[in-house]
Amino acid sequence: MVGIVLVSHSKKLAIALRELVLQMVGPEFPIAVAAGVGENFDELGTDAVHISEVLQPFLNGDGAVVLMDLGSAVLSAQTSLELLDTSVVADPLTKLRLCPAPLVEAAVSAAVQASVGGSLDDVVREAKAALAPKQSQLGIEDVPSVPVARVPEVTDSKPIEFDVVIENPHGLHARPAATLVQCANRFQSDVQVTNLTSHRGPSSARSLTSVSLLQARNGDSMRFTVRGSDSRDASEQLKQLAIDRFGEAAETDAAPSRKANDPVSMLAGEDESSGVGASEGIAIGRVLELSAVLPLPMDRKQDEPSEELKRLDDALASVASDLHRESSSPADAASEILAAQALILSDPVLLDEVRSKVSAGKVSAAMAWREQSASLAAAYSEMEDEYMRARAADIRDISVRVQRAIAGESQVSRIHPDPPAILLTSELLPSEASACDPERVLGVIASAGSATSHAAILMRTLGIPMVVGAKGVSSLALGIDALVALDGSSGQVWVNPAEADLVSIRQRKQALIDKRELLERDKHEPAFTRDQVRIEILANVGNAADAVQANKNGAEGVGLLRTEFVYLANKQMPTEDQQTASLAAVLTGLGPGPVVIRTPDVGADKPLSYLPTAAEHNPFLGVRGLRLSFRHPEFFLSNLKAILRAGIAHDVWIMFPMVTSPEEMQKARSFAEEAHAILEHEHVAHRWPVKLGMMVEVPAAAMLAERFAKLADFFSIGTNDLTQYVLATERGNADLDSLQDTVHPAVLRTIQHICEEADAVGCHVSVCGDAASDPVAATLMIGVGVRSLSVRPNQVAAIKAQARKLSIVELSQLTKEAMNLDNSAEVRKLAAGFMRKE
Ligand code: PEP
Ligand code: MG
Repeated sequence: MVGIVLVSHSKKLAIALRELVLQMVGPEFPIAVAAGVGENFDELGTDAVHISEVLQPFLNGDGAVVLMDLGSAVLSAQTSLELLDTSVVADPLTKLRLCPAPLVEAAVSAAVQASVGGSLDDVVREAKAALAPKQSQLGIEDVPSVPVARVPEVTDSKPIEFDVVIENPHGLHARPAATLVQCANRFQSDVQVTNLTSHRGPSSARSLTSVSLLQARNGDSMRFTVRGSDSRDASEQLKQLAIDRFGEAAETDAAPSRKANDPVSMLAGEDESSGVGASEGIAIGRVLELSAVLPLPMDRKQDEPSEELKRLDDALASVASDLHRESSSPADAASEILAAQALILSDPVLLDEVRSKVSAGKVSAAMAWREQSASLAAAYSEMEDEYMRARAADIRDISVRVQRAIAGESQVSRIHPDPPAILLTSELLPSEASACDPERVLGVIASAGSATSHAAILMRTLGIPMVVGAKGVSSLALGIDALVALDGSSGQVWVNPAEADLVSIRQRKQALIDKRELLERDKHEPAFTRDQVRIEILANVGNAADAVQANKNGAEGVGLLRTEFVYLANKQMPTEDQQTASLAAVLTGLGPGPVVIRTPDVGADKPLSYLPTAAEHNPFLGVRGLRLSFRHPEFFLSNLKAILRAGIAHDVWIMFPMVTSPEEMQKARSFAEEAHAILEHEHVAHRWPVKLGMMVEVPAAAMLAERFAKLADFFSIGTNDLTQYVLATERGNADLDSLQDTVHPAVLRTIQHICEEADAVGCHVSVCGDAASDPVAATLMIGVGVRSLSVRPNQVAAIKAQARKLSIVELSQLTKEAMNLDNSAEVRKLAAGFMRKE
């Protein structure tokens, strides 16, 4: 990465500027200071020898842009070039550029450009253009036409405003908030967010803390105000991000949060201590205080502010790189949590205060960091929402990590008590949770914490039982050799249970193990109805996290992989290699079943800035899906090539969206064949042959199913669009909610027709619309002939279980009646009666 060297008369000025820059681009950015003269360089002036010493290391890497304040700084910098040891590179100017741009603006712009991988020339260009935003803001003409860097920009242009409703079950907690912050930071525009429901904000979407303090909960209305030159693109992506629940997988790990006094699970016990179940399972064993295993870091003597600041920066950088390394596996719960935690390390709200306290020489870096992070954690703990309160533990966790790094102590790597034990702690932190060895940590009892904390999610992933909020935990600690039992579902804790209780707890433990085994066994089993008709259950996948869950939950394959995420997340057309890598990252998380990859259904309501379409009165009837792909053959071919390349080790089927006429299916097929031919010619390894099929979501395609069944290798019924087109009810229009129901007799008849025509020629049919995840609609669709359903990843086991309850013979009577009714409400009523009997 290209670095920056700040040459200034004042060391203080340069250090302050360096801080500003690091806040923008993160603590790992290579920026050096060559400023001041005299002992410790505390006097004003510039020294060519000192500058050359600072510049020398940059000759070995990608080089640096040198920014100077004024007067003799320029002369000293020029002279310093002559003092360099040129045995590394003959011409230092190939690695170092003295840039005439204004110091502060240029430092920020250049750093942003360098941090996104810009070349030396790019960085210099960006630096030189750094005054442009200020000039344009002040209405000064003659603004350079060079593109400006990605600094938050406030222009006079009219802002774009839009409202979204938060659909994430736990609101904008750390991980979705982090995704929002990362997205906002990709644009130059200023993005402000206001929580209209709780009247909090507006706050900058660039800071995780600011976003989190908005306390956006499920159902809250959030107003986005986007202002700047790329506000249109930014708005599009932010809207899409909201639709995608800010990257959060369809399933959130459900917490078994029953209270201890739940009568169902109550068991009498003398030393019982109540808590909340945070991770299912029963543990019995000896206890061990976690603090004995992991002592807190020691305080050290306070040094000069500059030393302390350096120590802080080094600690932040080292924790950031640890988090980066630890979050290497894609898309599992732990890596998402770590990525969200990493944002705390560069959060301006937190760091501003810490740095200013340390610079003032009042406190050590460790103390300032500890105090400031504690007060931020306290702000989270006071929030109304339980889920947001649980985020305080993340702050405390990062806080301890940084304190350990400042103290030069090593981080927690593994917690494996010998002999195995139940850990007692006040609050389990995420890094401690992920360090627990499930073979040796039998369970955890925490006096504080929450079932929705990241530590609890990790414990559930590791399968270690945990009870939180067990207030009596400190007294438990008194009995060093106490035998303890805990139930991670009910939250019960027993200390030295009587023999009779112990027998009963052991029996419960065994029963739970048996039940779990049965569920686990069943979720990967194929589903057969009571009369032995096989119902295939696949999953819909929109990102890598969905893929992991689909596989984990027993999906037999993927019935719909929406590739939109590859395109909507980018401001420019991704290269074929980038597309291949994005798709491969999702496929990695999947099992061996078939994977139906749909070519992009973008355009119209999901526009791409790099494939513009004209404004349309009715985007759902506009240039979308296959229609858009045909208009951009290069785009379509690169997408098809990427699918074939990424899918080399998978049973990939390619599906085309919005097919309306038979010639479109034929044309799409020729595109796929051409993509294969090009790859052959280029000698690029890829999957071929593959099945080529289509979405049946346009009524015309449904009506011509007989014709299409001979052209396509498979059908997937898109009930979301099919329902909107058959019933003329706009998708997502809340006013029409009650009218747009897939169980409407007209839609059921259409689905039946498609199945009959496809079955006649052996064309595979699945349903991938949302209705497949609804047990009632799924039942009715099985009744009209559907034998394969592609559902949300978290619904796989439930829909399998539902299919197992059914009998096709009984169902045919139900669906015959349903199709003769007048509307979906009547159908739902009829189905409810049927399901009660089932
Ligand atoms: C559908 O229309 O049912 C479908 C699955 O496609 P999408 O929701 O992506 O339009
Ligand atoms: Mg559709």
